Amino acid sequence: MSDLEKDPAELVCPAGTADGPVAELLEARQVVLGRTTKVRRLLPNKNRRMVGAWCFVDHYGPDDLTERVDSYDVPGERGMLVPPHPHTSLQTVSWLFEGEIEHRDSVGSHAMVRPGELNIMTAGNGIAHSEISLPTAPPMLHGAQLWVALPDSVRTTTAPAFNAYADLPVLVLDGAEATVMIGTVGGVTSPAPAYTPLVGADLRLEPGRTVTLPLTTDFEYAVLVVDGSLQIEEHTPGFGEMVYLGTGRSQIDLTAPDGARCLLLGGEPFEEELVMWWNFIGRTHEEVVAARNDWMASIEAGGNDRFPVVPGYDGEPLPAPGLPGTRLKPRPRSR
Ligand code: MN
Repeated sequence: MSDLEKDPAELVCPAGTADGPVAELLEARQVVLGRTTKVRRLLPNKNRRMVGAWCFVDHYGPDDLTERVDSYDVPGERGMLVPPHPHTSLQTVSWLFEGEIEHRDSVGSHAMVRPGELNIMTAGNGIAHSEISLPTAPPMLHGAQLWVALPDSVRTTTAPAFNAYADLPVLVLDGAEATVMIGTVGGVTSPAPAYTPLVGADLRLEPGRTVTLPLTTDFEYAVLVVDGSLQIEEHTPGFGEMVYLGTGRSQIDLTAPDGARCLLLGGEPFEEELVMWWNFIGRTHEEVVAARNDWMASIEAGGNDRFPVVPGYDGEPLPAPGLPGTRLKPRPRSR
């Protein structure tokens, strides 16, 4: 999945700061993709642009594809159908709770994205990929599309890459299990490549339990509930809601009266200001405009050096929306 908004705004994400522990409920914004499909966008949020280097979080489904008329992009098609589109200066993390998606990209990868398996694509200076629900996919689709901003030191020099991990390490806690997608939780470390101090984990909490989750004091964190509900300090986030926890915590208590599943996202506050537009991340408006020009030139030419063609994809790539006009003013990262 991707940012498929038809008229996306250009957004400035200011550098993060370590403001200490807080507990803020972040509500999702409903974003319509295609004609009718709605996804819940947690980041960027009007109250919080990033969590560590995590800069984009879409939560979608569970959707029954057998009942769906429209796809995520193309009316009349079943399930997700995202044609080849570009990314820059970020990593995409595709994470499913249910279902299956076919991934293809311009470095030649072809992979099935499945529940509990990490698929992480590092754009570097440029990559293109497609994401499709095949006719053979299971009927239910439930997942999250996450982006990690790459730091300036590597974002244009690291080679575009795709990594898949079917067998991720699991942290076993008293009352919960956590599959570690990226980074380290409780001494358990994922093999996935990260370029800033970062963590992502999929937590499953047993009913009626309070779990003490070990945290890193230098990191800021957020928890996104995808099933059941949680008690986190004064908040009781339910399905599709996120609680931002700030920095300065060595642990957090999570209570799941009826059981819960949630994503833990965290990292050191990202020290660089970002400019985000459509599927591009840059540092300036001009850089985003250049990426758009390069992508449109790639479509025209059937692939170019920055955005090669996605081999094996049967169909047309996704044109970029119209150029961003005005820069939105950054909002302070107030509590
Ligand atoms: Mn994408």
